Amino acid sequence: QKVELATYLHTICAHFHLALKEKEMDLDISCSQGLYILLDPERFQQVIINLLDNAMKYSKEGTKIDLIVKKSAESLTITLKDQGIGIPEQDLPYVFDKLYRVEKSRSRKSGGYGLGLSIVKEIVEAHGGEITIISERGKGTTVEIVLREDG
Ligand code: ATP
Ligand code: MG
Repeated sequence: QKVELATYLHTICAHFHLALKEKEMDLDISCSQGLYILLDPERFQQVIINLLDNAMKYSKEGTKIDLIVKKSAESLTITLKDQGIGIPEQDLPYVFDKLYRVEKSRSRKSGGYGLGLSIVKEIVEAHGGEITIISERGKGTTVEIVLREDG
């Protein structure tokens, strides 16, 4: 299905409005209008929701999240950047594994099963895309999804 990305992302992110407000966090969306992409709206929504859930869950109050879409000749890059606690370098290779959670102590408080990112990766790859995470402990995490425009 062809989806206009800006409207699509704003609609999904609107569900987080209250939660963001409660945590005094800001979400900035930067996506130009009129970018159409082939995707499964229901499934791909899970990607955005899971990544936003993580970005919020692993960030302190008052910090901000950026959602940036950039278009190049053949691809679209969706970047979600937070200023949260980050992921330790030694854990980074495993975060896409099922049931993997960094530091049981911090994870127990925040709940979850460690399934989010494995589902995210599966859906992104089912769309012919690639996902990369760059993170620095204490500074924040950046998740980058590259999609080919023809789906
Ligand atoms: P679930 O998504 O199933 O509720 P979860 O959030 O713990 O649980 P994942 O989304 O798969 O599981 O993430 C795996 C681990 O990677 C998390 O436990 C967390 O420690 C770390 N992580 C994921 N996203 C971030 C982020 N934005 N900032 C810091 N750590 C993160
Ligand atoms: Mg998660």
